[in-house]
Amino acid sequence: MEQWNQLWEYQQKDMALDQFKAALKDTPTRKRLVKLQRYLKNSQKKVNNMEARALQMQGEMQSIEKQYAGLEAELEELEKDISYYSECDDDELDAEQAKTLIKQATAVVNKSGKLKEDLQSMHDEVEQADKTVRELLQKMLSAKKEYDMLKVEHQKELDSGSGEQQALENAVKEAAQNISPEILAEYNRIKGFRPNPVAILENSRCNGCNMQLPAGVSGRILKGDGIVTCENCGRILIVL
Ligand SMILES: [Zn+2]
Repeated sequence: MEQWNQLWEYQQKDMALDQFKAALKDTPTRKRLVKLQRYLKNSQKKVNNMEARALQMQGEMQSIEKQYAGLEAELEELEKDISYYSECDDDELDAEQAKTLIKQATAVVNKSGKLKEDLQSMHDEVEQADKTVRELLQKMLSAKKEYDMLKVEHQKELDSGSGEQQALENAVKEAAQNISPEILAEYNRIKGFRPNPVAILENSRCNGCNMQLPAGVSGRILKGDGIVTCENCGRILIVL
């Protein structure tokens, strides 16, 4: 049947165009571009996370510094009391109170020492993160340079094939003239999930999915009133 031959021919041309476009995209340049793009995206995510973490740590460090200043003030007060006691005459000295003061002062000194250690290790961590971010940004910069260069190169690849692609596109358009709008619409709908929406029925078997179909199907196709699709794969069935 003429209309099925034309539909089959249309699909051949449409697939030839698809293949040509796919090959044009499947170059080493394009593959490297995709890889670089993924690398840049992941690195940016890493940088963002590290910067957020550093910001959070800076906030924590500020609060520790405040605590540290509080302890310093406390210690200063205690030292005043201790120096008062050290200047007292022996008979005025309350030994228990002096002991308590020294104990308090020691506790404050220990606590602030611990805070200082915490601060130092956080400071080191922030510094390390900063270094890592700077290295990462440097690497990203060269990756971006390579990306931009390859993009130009890939555009040249696409341009070099544009003449042939145009010819294939024209052939598809021309073949489409012979297909009814209803069938073309159905073809395009099926193309959403099948790269080749048309299948030939041979011996009651769909050659798209290889499924054996009921004997009456070929009769329905040959009658030629409406589109018959494969009940298994959904392709438009034709008989050549
Ligand atoms: Zn099928």
